[in-house]
Amino acid sequence: MTSKHPETLALHAGWRRDSATHSVAVPIYQTTSFQFDNAEQAANLFALKELGNIYSRIMNPTCDALEQRIAAMEGGVAALAVASGQAASAFCVQNLARAGDNVVSSTDLYGGTWNLFANTLKDQGIEVRFVDPSDPEAFARATDDRTRVYYAETLPNPKLIPFPVAEVAAIGRSFGVPLVMDNTAAPLLVRPFDHGAAVVMYSTTKWIGGHGTSIGGIVIDGGNFDWEAHPARQPAMNTPDPSYHGAVWSQAVKGLGPIAYIIKMRVTLLRDLGAAMSPFNAFLFLQGLETLPLRMREHSRNARAVADFLAERKDVSRVIHPAYHTGGDAERSAKYLPAGQGGLVGFELGGGLAAGQRFIDALKLFYHVANIGDARSLAIHPASTTHSQLSESEQAAAGVTPGYVRLSIGLEHIDDILGDLAQALDAAKG
Ligand code: PLP
Repeated sequence: MTSKHPETLALHAGWRRDSATHSVAVPIYQTTSFQFDNAEQAANLFALKELGNIYSRIMNPTCDALEQRIAAMEGGVAALAVASGQAASAFCVQNLARAGDNVVSSTDLYGGTWNLFANTLKDQGIEVRFVDPSDPEAFARATDDRTRVYYAETLPNPKLIPFPVAEVAAIGRSFGVPLVMDNTAAPLLVRPFDHGAAVVMYSTTKWIGGHGTSIGGIVIDGGNFDWEAHPARQPAMNTPDPSYHGAVWSQAVKGLGPIAYIIKMRVTLLRDLGAAMSPFNAFLFLQGLETLPLRMREHSRNARAVADFLAERKDVSRVIHPAYHTGGDAERSAKYLPAGQGGLVGFELGGGLAAGQRFIDALKLFYHVANIGDARSLAIHPASTTHSQLSESEQAAAGVTPGYVRLSIGLEHIDDILGDLAQALDAAKG
């Protein structure tokens, strides 16, 4: 597939037809295992002399079509589908960092990622150092000899301020530290590899699926990071791996292209920790992906109309949307989101916590759920739900005020979306 256009790649990349049946749709290869041609081929597969199917925990043809398609759309070289976005985030760190190593991460993270980094990885001996993304140099200051990874989200909510991808990627490259970008909220809108990121990951649960039926994640290797050039900085890629008969990953798969990072993740972490995506979920994500370019345009258009509508309301004290930032944050919106600003909108109700809860209870079209990126419009009041365990000052640091409401704007007709918001805002006045 030679096209560079996401609309075409979403329909064609990584698959033409099934070699056995000529099926046009990607079949659900619901099988655990694959018969080897002969003993020699089996040995070659295990020795990574050739790539092929062995066992569905490690690879599967339905998952492979999804991986190839997303890698092509993202501009990467290869991808690995996993069971959830959480598994993808964990693998991105664990692929390079071992006990005693550290990661420098933006503070502006999804709560599940925050917990993973602050607690579970800490228990595993990996320290995550959180820094303020408004100052890219903070990443350099937090880096020491044991720093292996930089990590951030391109469009973190609730603040919705685009991350300075190019600035931090360049700092990382000067140290030999790759930048991993969680691009869950901005697929196709931000292209992190164009700005120097080395790895992109998604919770496919959100916009990539779009249908809200399946939990999944994916990691994409940009193939643009020179692991060999940094032997001391990246020991996991440059020293013999006892778990794979002493393979040195920066060398072992050179003949297969610049895919050392993602191959290592597949044949060690996925093999050992087992967070595989099921072929059925891969099939459902492929259905979603076909319309992703169309949907991201429409989500962006509807969300912008919602932001403009809310900005006119007297009972709304603040609108949080990339188009409504000022100063340096506005410059980042312009630099990183020229293709559309995504489907998320936040706003603050002057009436505080009680008004926020009344607003949520009055919604009729919007679903009240702890999710984002569905084709349907979704709403949540973080102070009384997702962030209710935090103190008010911790909530404020996370960008959550008592009257803050998060909206994930769907694909319904804009008149219906605005109509529901208007009647719920009126009801929230009490
Ligand atoms: N990253 C972001 C930005 C998310 O919003 C989420 C989930 O909400 C995740 C990662 C985790 O993904 P999953 O729920 O698929 O494990």
